[in-house]
Amino acid sequence: MKKFEDSYRHKGLRKKLVDNIRSKGITDERVLHAIDTIPRHFFLDSAFEDKAYEDKAFPIAEGQTISQPYTVAYQSQLLEIKPFEKVLEIGTGSAYQASVLAEMGVQVYTIERQKKLFDQNRRFKYLDKYRNIKFFYGDGYEGLPTYAPFDKILITAAAPEIPSKLIKQLKPGGLMVIPVGTGDVQRMMRITKQPSGSMKEEVFDNFSFVPMIGGKKD
Ligand code: SAH
Repeated sequence: MKKFEDSYRHKGLRKKLVDNIRSKGITDERVLHAIDTIPRHFFLDSAFEDKAYEDKAFPIAEGQTISQPYTVAYQSQLLEIKPFEKVLEIGTGSAYQASVLAEMGVQVYTIERQKKLFDQNRRFKYLDKYRNIKFFYGDGYEGLPTYAPFDKILITAAAPEIPSKLIKQLKPGGLMVIPVGTGDVQRMMRITKQPSGSMKEEVFDNFSFVPMIGGKKD
Protein backbone atom coordinates (compact mmCIF):
# COMPACT_ATOMS: atom_id res chain seq x y z
CA MET A 1 0.00 0.00 0.00
CA LYS A 2 1.45 3.33 -1.06
CA LYS A 3 1.90 5.89 1.73
CA PHE A 4 1.15 9.51 0.94
CA GLU A 5 3.65 11.33 3.06
CA ASP A 6 5.39 14.53 2.07
CA SER A 7 8.52 14.66 4.22
CA TYR A 8 11.15 17.37 4.67
CA ARG A 9 13.42 15.26 2.52
CA HIS A 10 10.88 15.28 -0.31
CA LYS A 11 10.39 19.03 0.06
CA GLY A 12 14.15 19.57 -0.08
CA LEU A 13 14.50 17.46 -3.21
CA ARG A 14 11.65 19.42 -4.77
CA LYS A 15 13.44 22.74 -4.13
CA LYS A 16 16.47 21.34 -5.94
CA LEU A 17 14.28 20.25 -8.84
CA VAL A 18 12.84 23.77 -9.07
CA ASP A 19 16.38 25.26 -9.10
CA ASN A 20 17.30 22.76 -11.80
CA ILE A 21 14.44 23.65 -14.15
CA ARG A 22 14.92 27.34 -13.45
CA SER A 23 18.54 26.96 -14.60
CA LYS A 24 17.25 25.33 -17.80
CA GLY A 25 15.36 28.53 -18.63
CA ILE A 26 11.93 28.39 -16.96
CA THR A 27 11.08 31.86 -15.65
CA ASP A 28 7.31 31.79 -14.99
CA GLU A 29 7.23 32.01 -11.18
CA ARG A 30 3.73 30.57 -10.98
CA VAL A 31 4.84 27.47 -12.86
CA LEU A 32 7.87 27.08 -10.58
CA HIS A 33 5.70 27.61 -7.49
CA ALA A 34 3.28 24.88 -8.61
CA ILE A 35 6.15 22.42 -9.12
CA ASP A 36 7.52 23.38 -5.71
CA THR A 37 4.12 22.70 -4.14
CA ILE A 38 3.05 19.38 -5.70
CA PRO A 39 4.46 16.13 -4.27
CA ARG A 40 5.42 14.50 -7.59
CA HIS A 41 6.31 11.28 -5.75
CA PHE A 42 2.57 10.77 -5.09
CA PHE A 43 2.10 10.39 -8.86
CA LEU A 44 4.66 7.64 -9.43
CA ASP A 45 4.63 3.91 -8.78
CA SER A 46 6.38 3.19 -5.45
CA ALA A 47 9.26 1.60 -7.40
CA PHE A 48 10.20 5.03 -8.78
CA GLU A 49 9.39 7.09 -5.70
CA ASP A 50 13.02 7.80 -4.84
CA LYS A 51 13.61 9.15 -8.31
CA ALA A 52 10.53 11.40 -8.37
CA TYR A 53 12.59 14.58 -8.13
CA GLU A 54 15.01 13.76 -10.89
CA ASP A 55 14.20 15.76 -14.00
CA LYS A 56 13.11 12.69 -15.94
CA ALA A 57 10.01 11.06 -17.43
CA PHE A 58 8.95 7.75 -15.85
CA PRO A 59 6.66 4.92 -16.85
CA ILE A 60 3.14 4.84 -15.42
CA ALA A 61 0.46 2.19 -16.09
CA GLU A 62 -0.58 1.06 -19.59
CA GLY A 63 2.79 1.77 -21.21
CA GLN A 64 2.33 5.52 -20.75
CA THR A 65 4.60 8.07 -19.09
CA ILE A 66 4.55 10.90 -16.59
CA SER A 67 6.22 13.76 -18.46
CA GLN A 68 9.60 15.13 -17.39
CA PRO A 69 9.16 18.09 -14.97
CA TYR A 70 11.08 20.37 -17.37
CA THR A 71 8.65 19.43 -20.16
CA VAL A 72 5.64 20.08 -17.91
CA ALA A 73 7.13 23.45 -16.95
CA TYR A 74 8.00 24.30 -20.56
CA GLN A 75 4.49 23.59 -21.85
CA SER A 76 2.88 25.37 -18.89
CA GLN A 77 5.06 28.44 -19.46
CA LEU A 78 4.21 28.58 -23.19
CA LEU A 79 0.51 28.60 -22.25
CA GLU A 80 0.92 32.00 -20.50
CA ILE A 81 -1.62 30.97 -17.89
CA LYS A 82 -3.75 33.58 -16.15
CA PRO A 83 -5.92 32.71 -13.13
CA PHE A 84 -9.49 31.52 -13.81
CA GLU A 85 -8.87 30.63 -17.44
CA LYS A 86 -10.50 27.52 -18.94
CA VAL A 87 -7.84 25.06 -20.03
CA LEU A 88 -8.37 21.82 -21.95
CA GLU A 89 -5.65 19.18 -21.56
CA ILE A 90 -5.41 16.15 -23.85
CA GLY A 91 -3.70 13.15 -22.21
CA THR A 92 -4.35 13.15 -18.45
CA GLY A 93 -1.90 10.28 -17.81
CA SER A 94 -0.75 10.54 -14.20
CA ALA A 95 -2.65 13.85 -13.73
CA TYR A 96 0.58 15.58 -12.70
CA GLN A 97 0.39 18.20 -15.47
CA ALA A 98 -3.32 18.74 -14.73
CA SER A 99 -2.41 19.35 -11.07
CA VAL A 100 0.27 21.89 -12.02
CA LEU A 101 -2.34 23.82 -14.04
CA ALA A 102 -4.91 23.51 -11.24
CA GLU A 103 -2.38 24.78 -8.71
CA MET A 104 -1.95 27.83 -10.98
CA GLY A 105 -5.62 28.64 -10.43
CA VAL A 106 -7.26 27.71 -13.72
CA GLN A 107 -10.27 25.52 -14.47
CA VAL A 108 -8.85 22.33 -15.98
CA TYR A 109 -10.76 19.95 -18.28
CA THR A 110 -8.61 16.90 -18.97
CA ILE A 111 -9.28 13.94 -21.28
CA GLU A 112 -7.68 10.47 -21.17
CA ARG A 113 -8.35 7.74 -23.76
CA GLN A 114 -7.23 4.84 -21.52
CA LYS A 115 -9.98 3.70 -19.17
CA LYS A 116 -7.51 2.23 -16.65
CA LEU A 117 -5.66 5.51 -16.26
CA PHE A 118 -8.93 7.42 -16.00
CA ASP A 119 -10.19 5.03 -13.28
CA GLN A 120 -6.89 5.20 -11.42
CA ASN A 121 -7.20 8.98 -11.18
CA ARG A 122 -10.74 8.67 -9.83
CA ARG A 123 -9.35 6.65 -6.92
CA PHE A 124 -6.34 8.96 -6.37
CA LYS A 125 -7.21 10.76 -3.11
CA TYR A 126 -4.67 13.56 -3.45
CA LEU A 127 -6.61 14.87 -6.45
CA ASP A 128 -9.63 15.62 -4.24
CA LYS A 129 -7.64 18.74 -3.34
CA TYR A 130 -8.20 20.08 -6.85
CA ARG A 131 -11.91 20.70 -7.24
CA ASN A 132 -10.98 22.76 -10.30
CA ILE A 133 -10.04 19.69 -12.39
CA LYS A 134 -12.76 17.87 -14.35
CA PHE A 135 -11.75 14.41 -15.64
CA PHE A 136 -13.12 12.90 -18.85
CA TYR A 137 -12.69 9.48 -20.43
CA GLY A 138 -12.71 9.90 -24.21
CA ASP A 139 -10.86 10.62 -27.41
CA GLY A 140 -8.99 13.88 -27.15
CA TYR A 141 -9.20 14.40 -30.91
CA GLU A 142 -12.88 15.18 -30.34
CA GLY A 143 -12.19 17.67 -27.55
CA LEU A 144 -15.16 18.69 -25.39
CA PRO A 145 -17.63 20.56 -27.61
CA THR A 146 -20.10 20.94 -24.71
CA TYR A 147 -17.58 22.87 -22.62
CA ALA A 148 -15.92 24.81 -25.47
CA PRO A 149 -14.60 27.38 -26.13
CA PHE A 150 -11.36 27.24 -24.12
CA ASP A 151 -8.80 29.97 -23.44
CA LYS A 152 -5.95 27.47 -23.74
CA ILE A 153 -5.52 23.92 -25.06
CA LEU A 154 -2.56 21.74 -24.07
CA ILE A 155 -1.72 18.49 -25.85
CA THR A 156 0.59 16.18 -23.87
CA ALA A 157 0.98 13.44 -26.52
CA ALA A 158 2.73 13.60 -29.91
CA ALA A 159 0.25 14.69 -32.57
CA PRO A 160 0.91 13.85 -36.23
CA GLU A 161 -0.75 17.15 -37.15
CA ILE A 162 -2.70 19.95 -35.55
CA PRO A 163 -6.19 18.55 -34.74
CA SER A 164 -8.72 20.76 -36.55
CA LYS A 165 -11.62 19.98 -34.19
CA LEU A 166 -9.55 21.28 -31.28
CA ILE A 167 -8.68 24.50 -33.09
CA LYS A 168 -12.44 25.09 -33.44
CA GLN A 169 -12.78 24.80 -29.64
CA LEU A 170 -10.25 27.56 -28.98
CA LYS A 171 -11.48 31.08 -28.13
CA PRO A 172 -10.42 33.94 -30.40
CA GLY A 173 -7.12 35.10 -28.87
CA GLY A 174 -6.63 31.62 -27.37
CA LEU A 175 -3.47 29.50 -27.48
CA MET A 176 -2.75 25.84 -28.17
CA VAL A 177 0.54 24.21 -27.14
CA ILE A 178 1.21 20.96 -28.97
CA PRO A 179 4.17 18.67 -29.78
CA VAL A 180 3.87 17.93 -33.51
CA GLY A 181 5.56 15.10 -35.39
CA THR A 182 5.45 11.40 -36.16
CA GLY A 183 9.05 10.36 -35.44
CA ASP A 184 10.94 9.84 -32.17
CA VAL A 185 11.10 13.57 -31.56
CA GLN A 186 8.50 16.25 -32.04
CA ARG A 187 8.56 20.00 -32.40
CA MET A 188 6.83 21.98 -29.69
CA MET A 189 4.47 24.39 -31.38
CA ARG A 190 2.26 27.19 -30.17
CA ILE A 191 -0.77 28.10 -32.22
CA THR A 192 -2.53 31.41 -31.56
CA LYS A 193 -6.05 31.87 -32.84
CA GLN A 194 -5.94 35.55 -33.65
CA PRO A 195 -9.06 37.67 -33.12
CA SER A 196 -9.36 37.91 -36.95
CA GLY A 197 -9.66 34.10 -36.99
CA SER A 198 -6.29 33.48 -38.68
CA MET A 199 -3.67 31.25 -37.02
CA LYS A 200 -0.20 32.27 -35.93
CA GLU A 201 2.27 29.38 -35.60
CA GLU A 202 5.43 29.50 -33.51
CA VAL A 203 7.98 26.69 -33.34
CA PHE A 204 10.04 25.91 -30.23
CA ASP A 205 12.37 23.10 -29.05
CA ASN A 206 12.28 19.35 -29.72
CA PHE A 207 10.71 16.95 -27.23
CA SER A 208 9.78 13.30 -27.14
CA PHE A 209 6.21 12.27 -26.24
CA VAL A 210 4.17 9.07 -26.48
CA PRO A 211 1.85 9.21 -29.52
CA MET A 212 -1.60 10.76 -29.56
CA ILE A 213 -3.89 7.93 -30.69
CA GLY A 214 -7.47 8.26 -31.94
CA GLY A 215 -10.36 6.41 -30.27
CA LYS A 216 -10.82 5.14 -26.70
CA LYS A 217 -9.28 2.09 -25.04
CA ASP A 218 -11.17 -0.01 -22.42
N1 SAH B 1 -0.05 14.82 -19.01
C1 SAH B 1 0.44 13.54 -18.61
C2 SAH B 1 1.36 12.93 -19.66
C3 SAH B 1 0.87 11.58 -20.04
S1 SAH B 1 1.54 10.83 -21.47
C4 SAH B 1 1.09 13.56 -17.24
O1 SAH B 1 1.22 14.65 -16.65
O2 SAH B 1 1.42 12.50 -16.71
C5 SAH B 1 0.26 11.08 -22.66
C6 SAH B 1 -1.11 10.54 -22.34
O3 SAH B 1 -1.95 10.83 -23.46
C7 SAH B 1 -1.19 9.02 -22.16
O4 SAH B 1 -1.78 8.74 -20.93
C8 SAH B 1 -2.08 8.56 -23.32
O5 SAH B 1 -2.91 7.46 -23.00
C9 SAH B 1 -2.90 9.81 -23.61
N2 SAH B 1 -3.49 9.92 -24.95
C10 SAH B 1 -2.95 9.56 -26.14
N3 SAH B 1 -3.81 9.83 -27.15
C11 SAH B 1 -4.92 10.38 -26.58
C12 SAH B 1 -6.17 10.85 -27.09
N4 SAH B 1 -6.49 10.80 -28.38
N5 SAH B 1 -7.07 11.34 -26.20
C13 SAH B 1 -6.81 11.39 -24.88
N6 SAH B 1 -5.65 10.94 -24.34
C14 SAH B 1 -4.72 10.45 -25.16
